[in-house]
Amino acid sequence: MKQDVIIIGAGIIGLTTAERLLTHGANVTILERSQAGQESSWAGGGILSPLLPWKYSDHVTQLTSYSATQFPAWISSLQKASGIDPEYVISGMCILPPYDLEMAKQWCSIRCIEIEQSTISNIFPIENNFDFNRTQPHDRSLFLPNTAQVRNPRLLRALISRVMQLGGKILENCTVNRLNTNYQQIHSITSSCGEFVADYYIVSAGAWSIEILGAHALQLDIRPIKGQMLLFKFDAPPIHNILVQNDLYIIPRRDGHVLIGSTLEDVGFDKQTTISAFNQLLRHAGNILPSLKKMPIKQHWSGLRPASPKNIPTIGWHPTIRNLLINSGHYRYGVTMAPASAEILVNEMTGAKQPFDTLPYQAGWEIN
Ligand SMILES: Cc1cc2nc3c(=O)[nH]c(=O)nc-3n(C[C@H](O)[C@H](O)[C@H](O)COP(=O)(O)OP(=O)(O)OC[C@H]3O[C@@H](n4cnc5c(N)ncnc54)[C@H](O)[C@@H]3O)c2cc1C
Repeated sequence: MKQDVIIIGAGIIGLTTAERLLTHGANVTILERSQAGQESSWAGGGILSPLLPWKYSDHVTQLTSYSATQFPAWISSLQKASGIDPEYVISGMCILPPYDLEMAKQWCSIRCIEIEQSTISNIFPIENNFDFNRTQPHDRSLFLPNTAQVRNPRLLRALISRVMQLGGKILENCTVNRLNTNYQQIHSITSSCGEFVADYYIVSAGAWSIEILGAHALQLDIRPIKGQMLLFKFDAPPIHNILVQNDLYIIPRRDGHVLIGSTLEDVGFDKQTTISAFNQLLRHAGNILPSLKKMPIKQHWSGLRPASPKNIPTIGWHPTIRNLLINSGHYRYGVTMAPASAEILVNEMTGAKQPFDTLPYQAGWEIN
């Protein structure tokens, strides 16, 4: 395709979409309100799977599983082209009780996904003095050995570099203020850095997507849900697998950094970090990994997830405006879903065959 495309928002979704379009020959400009890759996509933990995957609909599983098959080759091509290592690591994910064992086993068996049960005392060193919620050391955890992770800031830096290498333009500090429409078509957009005209316009502005679409958002329900994270640094990784308990997770990085996440807060666009969230995360994580309590905290931050009902993003053409598309609403799993979502969107634009039924990712527009 030779058309000019404007993408609004340079998070993981906008950047991945840009990379795909550029490899298809499009001329791509991304307009970014602040700095590329600094919002939700930077803030996330980089776990490449839903936390309790059996609790989500098939539409979520389809996107996350399809993405999972693409990650190894995609990351290695990004690393080769950019010289930046996003640290894709298959670290496995260990789910601590409570969980629904039968549901988990059945879900994994249907999809041929490896799952193991193991005693918690096998996961933690003896001296760790594991004692969470009166869980006994003989209690069993679930282990998904093939779950992987990336380091978001590195992945984003590699992607930005790749997009620029491919000839994409990223205009930072450029806020899109208005989509100017005429005869069910966008003829231009107004931004803080001037007026832009293109053949196609893609909204991938995460939690801010509805703001930009205005009345054209129709019934789309994408709103900010704040998540706070804590970062610690050990001399060496104190654990080797991602640990999950309910909505809490502990992610070990190769160099001894350990991330603790995350809250789910419905507080609008407020990005302040809070002492109460800090205490809540540290108390819960410290009960699982007591050595955390002795470590100084390195960083505490928050990000705004683009939340959509049932965690199902909206990907594809606008129902009535001919040259407008959206790729947004990835809620808790936008990093995981990024490669599959970009492929689906670009297939829509080029008319290529989709890998599976993509109608569910159009449902968000519907007027009920
Ligand atoms: C604490 C936390 C933990 C997470 N953990 C994980 C995880 O482990 N695994 C996982 O897969 N996902 C995780 N996520 C979710 C994931 O980070 C998001 O789904 C994903 O980042 C969404 O990407 P995005 O590109 O749509 O949004 P964003 O990264 O928010 O990007 C949107 C961009 O649009 C720009 N923008 C907004 N308005 C305008 C405008 N008017 N004009 C121009 N630009 C504009 C913004 O500045 C921003 O850069 C987590 C999220 C959080 C907050």
